Amino acid sequence: MERNMSSEKTKMPELDPLERVKNFEEVALGYTDEMAVSEASRCLECKNKPCVPGCPVNVDIPGFIHEVKEGNFLAAYKKVIETNGLPAICGRVCPQESQCEKTCVRGIKGEPVGIGRLERFVADFAIREGALGTHNLPPKNGHKVAVIGSGPAGLTCASDLAKKGYEVTVFEAFHTAGGVLKYGIPQFRLPKAEIVDLEINVLKEMGVKLELNMVIGKILTLEELKRDGYEAIFIGSGAGLPSFMNIPGENYNDVYSANEFLTRANLMYAYRYPEYDTPMKKYGRVAVIGGGNVAMDAARVAKRLGAGEVYIVYRRSEAEMPARVEEVHHAKEEGIEFHLLTAPTEILGDGKTGAVTGMTCVKMELGEPDDSGRRRPVVIADSEYTLQVDAVIVAIGQSPNPLIKSSTPELKTQSWGGIIINEETGETSIPGIYAGGDAVTGAATVILAMGAGKTAAESIDRYLSKG
Ligand SMILES: Cc1cc2nc3c(=O)[nH]c(=O)nc-3n(C[C@H](O)[C@H](O)[C@H](O)COP(=O)(O)OP(=O)(O)OC[C@H]3O[C@@H](n4cnc5c(N)ncnc54)[C@H](O)[C@@H]3O)c2cc1C
Repeated sequence: MERNMSSEKTKMPELDPLERVKNFEEVALGYTDEMAVSEASRCLECKNKPCVPGCPVNVDIPGFIHEVKEGNFLAAYKKVIETNGLPAICGRVCPQESQCEKTCVRGIKGEPVGIGRLERFVADFAIREGALGTHNLPPKNGHKVAVIGSGPAGLTCASDLAKKGYEVTVFEAFHTAGGVLKYGIPQFRLPKAEIVDLEINVLKEMGVKLELNMVIGKILTLEELKRDGYEAIFIGSGAGLPSFMNIPGENYNDVYSANEFLTRANLMYAYRYPEYDTPMKKYGRVAVIGGGNVAMDAARVAKRLGAGEVYIVYRRSEAEMPARVEEVHHAKEEGIEFHLLTAPTEILGDGKTGAVTGMTCVKMELGEPDDSGRRRPVVIADSEYTLQVDAVIVAIGQSPNPLIKSSTPELKTQSWGGIIINEETGETSIPGIYAGGDAVTGAATVILAMGAGKTAAESIDRYLSKG
């Protein structure tokens, strides 16, 4: 195929915004074979591969894209899974614009190659062909490793260790595996049974055991896991503890953390009530506080659950929003209203019923940069006004749950709860115990969590090969 010199990415078909807000079906529909080959033909196959270091799990991007260009879709998939065990997931949710695609040479004079879209395409092709995950495993080496948490960090660590012959058991607190991929990111961005479960099944086929409903720190401690014969432990317990604003009115009934709201909707399938038995109250006007992916997801879920108006309330401007550009774009298309440079000061409610009746806000302007390098929002005097809402969803961040730390006092953590590790090896303050992902960094990304799982798997292998 001739090189495709278009300065724009091949468009990916999507559901119509007016239709899709009425259901939870996947918004982005993926490339056809022809679209994939055409997009792959935009790749310049640069010798120095600037895109690869942009990927925290170092996928051979030009290598797999070359196979797509040649129409060898299965070979392309196999190339991707050499280093990335969750390509159908990453192709859908990775912030490629700030990673692999950021350094793509085609991005200098136009749009970068749609690396994420192509990664999704090859994984979906493997699913369609029933060819997901074909690993040749070595014989078991007799060493047992425990992984705590079945999010992307834990799954990747488990997969890499299984590929090296370890006997791996993943302990998961919830009744289902996947972490945020299951309870946080909604079905319309990342289908559960159709995508997440299939990629997790690959691990099961590799012999990784999953122990569900196992809250480590409560049911078993790290010490007890060691006594049970686990010679090394990886903690990938994520950052599931929601932060609140600490403003008056946050205890009213219709105030949710985004975690609770999304867990009810996604993990407990509230959107399919009464087929599933988790109900969700219907609201007219919902305010979502925050500007990240979590806020966009909560807003779009609220809309799909029937709210007439949904507002994103964010104290900085759109340029500082941490959400992926694509998510902001999709939210706008779906009619989510953005109240930027706005900060809530009080949630108003009915003292008797506990129902929310409104939210007092102030307008902000941007001052000097703060420690994060982003310009600090400053309150504009006399700018207070009331937003009429009947529910508020707080999506301003999460931190690691303190349960494992509280049952393992010698495990060193940061003041905000992040587990302290040796950056190079992933080892914690306790020899033989490793950690990575959101439990270490605080809320971050799927691919960074996967990268941390990989680093820890390599270190665990070195640690256990020594003895
Ligand atoms: C709503 C939402 C949307 C997001 N969107 C994106 C996106 O589009 N792109 C992106 O890259 N990132 C996104 N993220 C961030 C990303 O999902 C996380 O950074 C990533 O999932 C972290 O992976 P992890 O494995 O460290 O933790 P998690 O995915 O949080 O998994 C941790 C697992 O450990 C389990 N666990 C916790 N404590 C225990 C215990 N004591 N015992 C046993 N199990 C335990 C939890 O139940 C959970 O299953 C989003 C996050 C949220 C919340």
